[in-house]
Amino acid sequence: MNDFKGRRVVVLGGSGFLGSHLCERLLRDGASEVVSLDNLVTGNERNLVDVAPLGNLRVVIHDVTEPLRVDGPVDFVFNLASPASPIDFVQLPIETLRVGSIGTENGLRLAREKKAVFLQASTSEVYGDPLVHPQPEDYWGNVNPVGPRAVYDEAKRYGEALVTAYARMHGLRTRIARIFNTYGPKMRLEDGRVVPTFVGQALRGEDFTVFGDGTQTRSFCYARDLIDGLLRLALSDVTEPINLGNPREMTILQFAEAVRNVHGHEGRVAFKPLPKDDPRQRRPDITRAQTLLSWEPRVSLEEGLVETFAWFRKVMAPKEPAPRT
Ligand code: NAD
Ligand code: UDP
Repeated sequence: MNDFKGRRVVVLGGSGFLGSHLCERLLRDGASEVVSLDNLVTGNERNLVDVAPLGNLRVVIHDVTEPLRVDGPVDFVFNLASPASPIDFVQLPIETLRVGSIGTENGLRLAREKKAVFLQASTSEVYGDPLVHPQPEDYWGNVNPVGPRAVYDEAKRYGEALVTAYARMHGLRTRIARIFNTYGPKMRLEDGRVVPTFVGQALRGEDFTVFGDGTQTRSFCYARDLIDGLLRLALSDVTEPINLGNPREMTILQFAEAVRNVHGHEGRVAFKPLPKDDPRQRRPDITRAQTLLSWEPRVSLEEGLVETFAWFRKVMAPKEPAPRT
């Protein structure tokens, strides 16, 4: 099995930012059908409107913490269902824990019933506020189990343990992607993550809201690169966790500068309090992905930001008034 031609694929969380890019790429790569299951808690039906004409896409509104029923054969189950932005998972703490635990188990059961490959979208947050830098996959992390981010971090850590248990106990073919900060079109303007926030602020001519002193670091990966990594991982036989992210690390102040340069916006910085447990530094060690998947990001931050600006410009454009009847 070395491509998706003729494969039937289930995507949990397919109406979200990354899920919708994944559905698009699967259909472009010849999947016979893509079935998206999503309860739209942080996703949006609009994300799949331009994807549907590309092939056979079935969009099902369903909460994956409820049992999953999908008729017919399934070759792959991708589990992307989970609130992912800090403001989303702080507002939806119990939902985040439930989708990461019960939702993941429902996805695993479906994959087991169908003898499908199961891919778990895990996260760099399993490393918490890391004491090892950059983060290799064999670092176990530094997570506060009762802090504001715990609902997400611990759900994802539990998810990895559960996926591994299904592989060990049931021989399920599983993959674990530890995704680092990823951005691009179809993010929600108001999801609170730094990329849509700064791009929106640049387009409105507002100051950039930098949390803390802005010296904390992140490494930003463009969505197209990330999806390419997910597909390579799904098609590989790599069962151990794999970091997928862009190793170009920068401070949040440098990121504000990059946004300013791409947009030509004069925006100043307005410093705001740093949220509790905000990780100080984050950069993936992608040696494993380079070696085992021959994968590394190709899109520069500047190119990715140009495409992201184009998307948000459209989203923010005043809507045409409805024609009079
Ligand atoms: P997103 O919020 O845009 O997408 C998540 C999708 O899951 C949404 O469409 C949401 O409605 C759906 N969902 C949530 N709970 C559900 C439930 N109970 N039942 C059905 N659907 C449910 O976020 P995203 O950035 O696209 O993230 C997708 C996945 O990738 C998540 O699992 C996230 O943890 C992981 N991830 C993303 C990043 C990133 O930088 N974007 C980084 C690390 C990990
Ligand atoms: N951040 C910021 N201003 C904002 C939003 C976020 O300075 O308006 C900071 C945030 O404190 C963090 C970094 O940008 O240090 C990345 O935040 P994001 O929410 O995008 O992702 P995560 O914290 O999950 O890496």
